[in-house]
Amino acid sequence: MEWNLEDIENACNKAFKGCLNYLNNDLKNFKSKELSVAFNLGLNKETINASASVDENGKYHVVLENAAVKIVFDFYNRILVNEDFYKIVSGEDKYDREKASKYVDLLTEMTIKNILFHELGHIFNGHVDYIKDIFNKYKQNGEPRYDVTNYTLYEINSHARPYLQPKEWQAIEWNADDFSATKMVGLFTYDSNIDEVLIKNKFHGLLLIVLTLSVMYSLMGMGRKNDSIIDFKNMEHLPKRARVKKYIGVLLAACTKMNEEIKETDILPIEEYVKYSFAIENWANQYVKQYWKRENYSTDNNLEELDEEHENYYLEVELFYYTLLEKLEKYTYFEVYDEETKKVAEEIAIRSFLFKRYGTTEFEYIKFKKK
Ligand SMILES: [Zn+2]
Repeated sequence: MEWNLEDIENACNKAFKGCLNYLNNDLKNFKSKELSVAFNLGLNKETINASASVDENGKYHVVLENAAVKIVFDFYNRILVNEDFYKIVSGEDKYDREKASKYVDLLTEMTIKNILFHELGHIFNGHVDYIKDIFNKYKQNGEPRYDVTNYTLYEINSHARPYLQPKEWQAIEWNADDFSATKMVGLFTYDSNIDEVLIKNKFHGLLLIVLTLSVMYSLMGMGRKNDSIIDFKNMEHLPKRARVKKYIGVLLAACTKMNEEIKETDILPIEEYVKYSFAIENWANQYVKQYWKRENYSTDNNLEELDEEHENYYLEVELFYYTLLEKLEKYTYFEVYDEETKKVAEEIAIRSFLFKRYGTTEFEYIKFKKK
C-alpha cells in the first residue's frame, strides 16, 4: 500500500482543518474570535519539514512538505506488519491485520497533527508577528544578511538567523513545542476521541502521543551521528533529545491539568516515558537502516545532549523562555503569560541566579526556599 499525492493532500487538509477548528473553538470561547490560516502542501523538500508565516497583508500560512507525510506513513505502514511493534502500539497480545492498518492511519494522523500544532503555535502564540516586527526594525538598522521575505520558521537544523539571539529562537521553538504538546493532550486524551478500540483510554492516548513524537524526531535524525561537532548554542532549535524530553514533561503536566480525574501519582515518572521513547527510537533506527540504508543511526548517539553541561545551558534558555512570554503578550491570541506562569518564571529566575552565583541550583535553591 502506498499513498499518492491526492491521498496525502486529503489526509493533510483533513488534519489541518481538525487542528485549526480545535484552536478556533478555544479562541472563540476565550475572545469570541477566529483566525483564518491558509494551508498548503509543500512539494519542494525531501525531508520532514514544515513552516509557518505571515505575509505582507497579515495573512497567515502553514506549509507542510508532502515528503513529511510520505516518510511517516511509510514508516508506520512497514513497521506495523511486525507483530511485536503491533503489541507495543495496541497493548494487545494477538495480531489483528485489519486493526494494524487502522493504526497506520491513526498514527500518521497523530504525527501530522503534532507537526501542524507546532506550526499553528507559531501563529496563535504570536511568534510570526513578533518576528515580523523585529525583522522590520532590523532591516531599518542595516542590511540584513539574509533576504527573508516571508518570516518563515523552518524546521531544519539551521543556524539561528541574525536578528534574534539564538537563545530567543530556541525559546520560541520551545514555546511552539509546548503549544503542540498541550493541544495533542487536549485532543487525544479527550473522552470523545477515545474510541476504546484503537485508543483504549487516556493513558494509552498519552502513550501514543509519546510514540508518535519519538518516531517523528527519530526520522528527523535524533540518533544520527554527527560528522562534526554541532555548535548547539547557535542553532535555531535545541538539540532533539532535549526537545523530546521537554516535550514529554509538558505532556505529563498537561495530562493531569486537563484531566481532573488523573492525579500526578497516576502517571509514571518522566524517566519511564523517556525510556519508552528510546525503545521506540530503536525501532525507527532499525527502519532507517533497513530502508534508507543508513548505518549511522543509534540510540547511543548524541547522548551528550542530555548531559549536565547541556542541561545547564537549557536552564539559561528557560530563563529566556519566560522573558519571551512576557514580550509575546502583545502579539499572542491566547494568554501565554498568566499568573501561574509568572510564578514559575520567578522561580526559574531564582534558580538561574543561584546557578550563576554558586554553580548549583538544587541544594541552594531548597535552602533559599526554606528561608
Ligand atoms: Zn518551529
